[in-house]
Amino acid sequence: MAEPTPKPPVVIRRFAEIVGHAPQKALLAQAEARERAHHAYLFTGADGIGKRRVAYAFIARLLCKQPIALSPGADPSLGFEACGACRNCIRVFETPTWYDDRAPFPAKEDAPELAPRHPDVMTLLPHGQYIKISQVREVLRIVPFQPVEAPVRVVVIDDAHLMNDEAANALLKTLEEPPARTRFILLTSLPSSLLVTIRSRCQKVAFARLSDAELMTMLTQLNADPAAIARAIPLAQGSARAAIELLDDPLGAIWEPLARELLTVRDQPSVHALAASLAEIPQLDAVFDRVARLLRDALLIRTGASAAAHGLFHRSLVDALTTWAQSQSSESILHRLELVEDTRQLTRTFNMQARLAFERLLLEISAPVGAEGARPMLARRDIL
Ligand SMILES: [Zn+2]
Repeated sequence: MAEPTPKPPVVIRRFAEIVGHAPQKALLAQAEARERAHHAYLFTGADGIGKRRVAYAFIARLLCKQPIALSPGADPSLGFEACGACRNCIRVFETPTWYDDRAPFPAKEDAPELAPRHPDVMTLLPHGQYIKISQVREVLRIVPFQPVEAPVRVVVIDDAHLMNDEAANALLKTLEEPPARTRFILLTSLPSSLLVTIRSRCQKVAFARLSDAELMTMLTQLNADPAAIARAIPLAQGSARAAIELLDDPLGAIWEPLARELLTVRDQPSVHALAASLAEIPQLDAVFDRVARLLRDALLIRTGASAAAHGLFHRSLVDALTTWAQSQSSESILHRLELVEDTRQLTRTFNMQARLAFERLLLEISAPVGAEGARPMLARRDIL
């Protein structure tokens, strides 16, 4: 008889264990401690930076039977957080994939299994393209009743911008007259796509991208290979999820030498050889993404904007990038960026042989300003 599959361990993520987002965690913990918590929160910020993790740590705090001080020995007015050990906490954190850093982030279609196992936590995720009115109605049917076990019930609306108009309007009525002992947490990377009336009913908690130092702390805790961490951080642009996915980047260590060659290649035989090397990489899309990022870096250098925001994807290639960018104009770099997408479409939709497609692209990238031959073959007007 086959052994039963062992249950994966529950990964606890309390506030203290989530890297970054200190002001947001403090705000939530303090509001709760001072009984000034809002009935509806809107968590905003880029995808993959940790909004969901903080949301579930906060839910555990709300449901926890024995909350503990946010920082040991600290003033209690600074707030409390989940103990991570009581029966309520365990059930909130028992949703396996979202709390295990190394597990793949699941497709939204797999969502039902991801609902926390606590009866007072409800999670709405898109069914197909949208969060539909039938899903919102199901929630609204339940919220007038008392929570089953916990002092409060929490409804999470994940990717809240994907509520269709009917669903959003149905929810709005409830946010205007919130039921007692129910909290809503809406998560979104696109707050401007939400109804203004919904936004105005929620307390906004804006999350920032993680700093490089925070990403470093997080990836180091995962015992990842230091070389993979060093490659992942600049490409992740402050997203924890992107950084984790990049640890298993298919291009990994092979990309940097190719990128350097791409910036310096001049003569036809070298173009042919490099095109052949790029065409051998099975993940063509990843190659096109990288070429586009390389040209974007060059554009930032050319326009003097490279110090802005999170800077360059290819920091280790800054010398080669600068030399190449100085030989170009902003317009000529933009033209080459356009050709990258054009070439991607040629290989994807029209089955152009990858080697030939890269040759065409590389000849353009290596051509001096004004000597470009290729024009995008698939300009939008031609497709439509
Ligand atoms: Zn607890």
